[in-house]
Amino acid sequence: MFIALLVLTACEQRPQVHQQQVLALGTLVDISLYDVEAEKAARAVTAVTNQMEAIHHDWHAWQPSKLSYINQQLAAGESVRLDKEQTHLIRRGIELARQSDDLFNPAAGKLIALWGFHSDERPDTPPPEDAAIADLVAQAPRMSEFQLQDGQLSSANPAVMLDVGGYAKGYAVDRSIAILKDIGIDNAIVNAGGDLRAIGAKGDRPWRIGIRHPRQPGVLASLATQGDESIFTSGDYERYFEYHGQRYHHIIDPRSGRPARGATSVTVIHSDATTADAAATALFIAGPEAWRATARAMGIDTAMLVDEAGTVHMTAAMAQRVRFEIDPVPETEILP
Ligand code: ADP
Ligand code: MG
Repeated sequence: MFIALLVLTACEQRPQVHQQQVLALGTLVDISLYDVEAEKAARAVTAVTNQMEAIHHDWHAWQPSKLSYINQQLAAGESVRLDKEQTHLIRRGIELARQSDDLFNPAAGKLIALWGFHSDERPDTPPPEDAAIADLVAQAPRMSEFQLQDGQLSSANPAVMLDVGGYAKGYAVDRSIAILKDIGIDNAIVNAGGDLRAIGAKGDRPWRIGIRHPRQPGVLASLATQGDESIFTSGDYERYFEYHGQRYHHIIDPRSGRPARGATSVTVIHSDATTADAAATALFIAGPEAWRATARAMGIDTAMLVDEAGTVHMTAAMAQRVRFEIDPVPETEILP
């Protein structure tokens, strides 16, 4: 009797979700692994954390880093030798900038810095002078001005300053998932502060994830992930300061040189996280009128934008996937 009971309990032991939070990339990263033994899970978490810390360190925008060295050389009109990872990420940046018609512009680091976002602190200064903004916009730094040949990078325009903050998190999440797959883990989520890539499922059920409400605590909508996909959100609530009652956030429209207007958050689903991250930033800048065209140009089918009035604009593909988690449900507008 005793033995039979023991066997029964053992049979009932279901595979578990191993969930662990680590501090990496300057944010809380949540790693969920389904049905992975403890030793392997620990190994996976360590590998992912180390890799994210390396990316954070190498690509830091305002502390001495491999990136700041590249920027120094470019500002001096010098060319600079890139390693494999640098070549890859900068090439991706050039491509994503081109697809977004330069709304996504990682060469506009000087504008981000001018607005005070190259700092660990929340800026508490007034917004920059109009003349300073106009001056940087006129210098027109663009990814298309880079020459990148045989690992050698140069720019004819010394106003370029690389800031990969708009897609480095996506890149880090892609690299993390690659590490997990290498270890033989097929069911997992790597969630970096709400931006994530999921693979596989939670046994016979899909992973279910939440999309944060841009204006209140908690979740606006949820959805079940399908296979291997990334879900990234850009919002005006992530980093901002307020001055005279006006919010100034960290997603800068390179055309005006000012925080992009019209959207409060944009969520993009795409197979790879690098693209999803960059596209969320680009669609946010495109705004409620132009986001659909920018999505098309970037190869994005599944996206939604919450505008300043709280209306949720969605592609038809997104409308099929989301379930609103607030009552009453928001106004929606669905575009093919
Ligand atoms: P979050 O997920 O925190 O909302 P995003 O993915 O939207 O962030 O990226 C915002 C970051 O992207 C900024 O902090 C800055 O480093 C960078 N950035 C801001 N404006 C642009 C732009 N027009 N193109 C590319 N990167 C940008
Ligand atoms: Mg982004």
